[in-house]
Amino acid sequence: MRVLVTGGAGYIGSVTVAALCRCGHEVVVLDNLSEGHRAAVPEGVPLVQRDLRDYAGVAETLKHFGCDAVIHFAASALVAESVANPRKYYENNVGASLSLLAAMLDSGVRRLVFSSSAATYGVPEVVPIPEDHPQRPINPYGFTKYAVEQAIRDYARAHGLGAVMLRYFNAAGASLDGRLGEHHRHETHLIPLVLQVALGKRPHVQIFGTDYATRDGTCVRDFVHVEDLADAHVRALDAIVPGHALALNCGTGRGYTVREVIETARAVTGHEIPAVEADRRPGDPPELVAAVERIRAELGWEPRWPELQQIIASAWRWHREHPNGYDD
Ligand code: UDP
Repeated sequence: MRVLVTGGAGYIGSVTVAALCRCGHEVVVLDNLSEGHRAAVPEGVPLVQRDLRDYAGVAETLKHFGCDAVIHFAASALVAESVANPRKYYENNVGASLSLLAAMLDSGVRRLVFSSSAATYGVPEVVPIPEDHPQRPINPYGFTKYAVEQAIRDYARAHGLGAVMLRYFNAAGASLDGRLGEHHRHETHLIPLVLQVALGKRPHVQIFGTDYATRDGTCVRDFVHVEDLADAHVRALDAIVPGHALALNCGTGRGYTVREVIETARAVTGHEIPAVEADRRPGDPPELVAAVERIRAELGWEPRWPELQQIIASAWRWHREHPNGYDD
């Protein structure tokens, strides 16, 4: 298939672009490089540097390259920032997605894989969380992903759009070839921060909240290897049914606490990694772990690297080899 990948210069997007190319798809990346990195796009893959809100430009790109499908990663994705600056999130995530959907429909492109999030569930009533769990987000980021999911469901019914909406849990790790990893210009994610401490670039990591009702008082998250996530997207492309919007959790089904992540990183890196206890971070649910039966049944997907140790080891290799990220 000819696939337009929005946000294809970003972390999960770039690893998925590489996986799509390996599977013989023709890929075009559309990215405004606000978060993405030019160096993360493989040679030979066209990079269209354009904002998604440029409706005419996106429609023109879809037609010019004869795209059959879109994988839509481009978004702002930090919970805390969304609490402080919701406008950015509604504009970048909801506004830009609606513009993209309009460009797709008007160009006759009706296949979509959408990056949704476990943040759409809010504070779960049951863990592991099944896909039919009520969606009651507790932060603006989660609301924006939920709003776009709802638009996709409505467009599927009324306009014949076919979509798979992957609700990511916590993406982590780096590409297995060591080329692509997680580099945000302003880092807020746990595993990259922990590894920056191991590299001596930060004095300590903060543990946000130690009084949650979890096994050691810190938040529990389901970390999924970015290569496994990429594989889920490649499979999702083939599972799209016109007129249907299918939501699938994408996680391993296993949760680790923040303290367990730090302990594992100490074991993997051999560094001490000092940690200090801090207040809770606004907008963080205590425990997010995926129920994985549906994605297994629908896509035949199983994580190939489910162990936290494997995930952190791959991230550690990338951080050691790219101590300054992508140098842009
Ligand atoms: N976290 C932490 N210290 C940090 C960054 C994150 O304790 O410096 C915690 C955070 O509160 C959450 C978990 O680690 O419970 C994962 O956070 P991250 O930002 O990596 O991903 P999110 O779950 O927000 O998508």
